[in-house]
Order: sequence, then C-alpha cells, then structure tokens
Amino acid sequence: MNDESIYVPGEWTCDACGFVVVKSVIIASTGDIMADASAHVEACPNDGTAMRQVTWREALTEARDIAGKDLIASQRMRAAVAKHHAQKADDRCILDDDELYAAFGLPPVDRRVGDKAAMLVNCQRFIERRCEAGGWPTYAELEATVAGLTAERDAARSALQMVSERWTFNNQQHTHTWHDWADCQPVLAAALAASKPEKT
Ligand SMILES: [Zn+2]
Repeated sequence: MNDESIYVPGEWTCDACGFVVVKSVIIASTGDIMADASAHVEACPNDGTAMRQVTWREALTEARDIAGKDLIASQRMRAAVAKHHAQKADDRCILDDDELYAAFGLPPVDRRVGDKAAMLVNCQRFIERRCEAGGWPTYAELEATVAGLTAERDAARSALQMVSERWTFNNQQHTHTWHDWADCQPVLAAALAASKPEKT
C-alpha cells in the first residue's frame, strides 16, 4: 500500500463519507513541509471506517474536475465584468450592479439611503466631482439626432417620389428613357436640395 507510482504520498480518503486526510511532516531543522509517506493512518473521524490511500488517477480526475469548474466560473465572471465595463455613463444602473454581483455569487447590496433630500445633495456633489461632460450624448442630444435623421429620411423619400414621377412623365410623353444611374443622379440631387429642410 505504499507504492508512490500508484498512490499519492500522504493522501487518504474514507469511502463511506469522502473525508480526506493529507498527512504532512515538518522538518524541524529547515522548516520544510513534506508528505508523510508512512503507511499508518487513523480511522475516519466521522464514522470509524478504515481510510485508504488516494490514487494518482483519482487525484488527476479530481484536479481536472476542479480546473474545469474554475475555468467556467472565471469565464462567466470575466464576461460579467467586461459587460459592466462596456456600459457608459447612465447606461449603467443599479440593476446592472446587481447583475455583476450575481455573477460572483454575491447578493444585491443594501442601497437604502435614508433621507432622500440629503441624498439628492450628495448626488449633485457626486455628479460634479465624478462626471465629465462630452464623450457621450445626453438623451436630449440623442433625440435631436433622431429628429434630424427622420427629417432627412422624409426629404429623401419625397425627392425619390419626385424623380420617379418625372421619370414616368418623361418616359410617357417624350419617349426619353434614363438608362442608368448617371442620368438619374443630377435630377435626384436637385430634387433633394429643393426638398431638404433647413438645418436647425
Ligand atoms: Zn468517513
């Protein structure tokens, strides 16, 4: 029972309850710690069952199992941190904080603030000290961008409609046909310019 090519020196287990003992010896003169490879071990302290030595095969299987679980856990945590890190400004709210904590197995924090009026003052101080202007549009700026793009889209639609009508008219009345984009482009550009709203 002491073959170190089969058994992990100093490591014993109980087949009844899974209890594991790792026996070590300390070299008093140097302070080094080594495996206690002696064949003697007490019975399991839980149930009195005779302990047996752990094989290298068992140790390897267990180590692989632990490494695999650790890898999955660390990938999940990395993804959660990366997502949290990618959130800008007010993209990140208290619910996102909870999601991050949950990825690490932590419960939501206690966010009670006591007096709300005092909290508003603190929020103002926080914004003054921690937030920088620019770099990320406000909701008002985003809405203005949407309004501008919507107006441009409507203008482009009506310009296309005009080109289409002129094309139909020319085609029917004057037997003139535009064969390609080069023919159509100046008319479309003129129609666009005529129908484009003033930029505010
Ligand atoms: Zn046991």
